[in-house]
Amino acid sequence: MTVPTNSYIELSKGALKANIAFIREIIGSYCKFSSVVKGNAYGHSIDVFVPLAEECGLNHFSVYSAHEAYKVYKACSGKSTIMIMGTATEDDIEWAVTHNVEFFVFDMFRLKTAARLAEKHQNPACIHIEIETGLNRTGFEPGQLSEAIDFIEQHKALFRVKGICSHLAGAESIGNYHRIQKQIKLFRKTGKFIRKTGFKGIAGHLACSAAIINYPETILDLARVGIMQYGFWPSREVKVSWLTKQPEMEDPLLRVITWKTRVAGLKEVKAGEFIGYGNAVLAEINMKVAIIPVGYSDGYSRALSNSGKVLIRGKRVDVIGFVNMNITMVDVTHVDHVSVNDEVVLIGSQGDMNITVSSFSELSSLLNYEMLSRLPQDIPRIVTA
Ligand SMILES: *Cc1c(COP(=O)(O)O)cnc(C)c1O
Repeated sequence: MTVPTNSYIELSKGALKANIAFIREIIGSYCKFSSVVKGNAYGHSIDVFVPLAEECGLNHFSVYSAHEAYKVYKACSGKSTIMIMGTATEDDIEWAVTHNVEFFVFDMFRLKTAARLAEKHQNPACIHIEIETGLNRTGFEPGQLSEAIDFIEQHKALFRVKGICSHLAGAESIGNYHRIQKQIKLFRKTGKFIRKTGFKGIAGHLACSAAIINYPETILDLARVGIMQYGFWPSREVKVSWLTKQPEMEDPLLRVITWKTRVAGLKEVKAGEFIGYGNAVLAEINMKVAIIPVGYSDGYSRALSNSGKVLIRGKRVDVIGFVNMNITMVDVTHVDHVSVNDEVVLIGSQGDMNITVSSFSELSSLLNYEMLSRLPQDIPRIVTA
């Protein structure tokens, strides 16, 4: 017997392998590949994605919070490195210190807290010194660095300095070119300063997906790659900028995710009748409507009302009316032989047809990230070849 579910998500191991190989080719064999799995592995599910990524050869995972780090810790083999890039409470830091989970430090308070907890547990804190280079989010101001370095040197036994890092303020858009260049310059300068202090084996890292394509000079000891490993470009601009440099112009990224459900019901609607809530949709001809058991509470955004597309029997069909909380209706008037239980693809391909996440809307390039990370955690994830 299977667990009841309204929809399910397939993760393609072959696609992930191909994406990793492509990214590896770009970053080279020296640079460490840190697989960014924040946002529940961009909606792919930490529980399922992390072991899959390990099978594909990855052994370094970056998350935003300790909560996510804990999930990776539970899901991974125990041999992988886990790195927390974001904020953390004192309890979170205590957990990280006692489990050898690495984390960013970006102010004196956090550095001192780490030292105190490392002392308490007689276990060094594995830290990455985050430098503020212009994103103006988190990071030591270059002027504060001497104080931090002095503190670490005075408490050497309490720290393992694993990295120096920063994050770029929008590497996916050429509009930010000057700001990014300034960040790269500043990072180089401060990085040199920290290395001079004599800490050994520190990894410099600055790059995300967009940066490995647009700013190859940011490929250092480690790269934090999120969206591209899942088979999505950070923005259309990055995709175009890559493709136009290739003779064959073929998209090398393969989407790991396919989101599917099944037709739950069918309905004939006579011309002149309204469909769904209110009077937004009038059947102008006799119509056949398929009921899909997925709504906005399942992560199928209400913004797709009257605009989304799904695949049924190899055909692309329109969402009609509003996406409801648990149900969506699609127009199958022109699809032959549709029956209850037919496979419906919400994201991914069926036959030659394909529904991309970005086709969900022309709104913004960030939609990929948002749409994916909003996929509910309780949709079952199944690994396919
Ligand atoms: C999310 C994130 C990344 C990865 O970004 P992608 O665009 O998905 O590759 C890298 N570094 C930091 C600090 C992040 O928050």
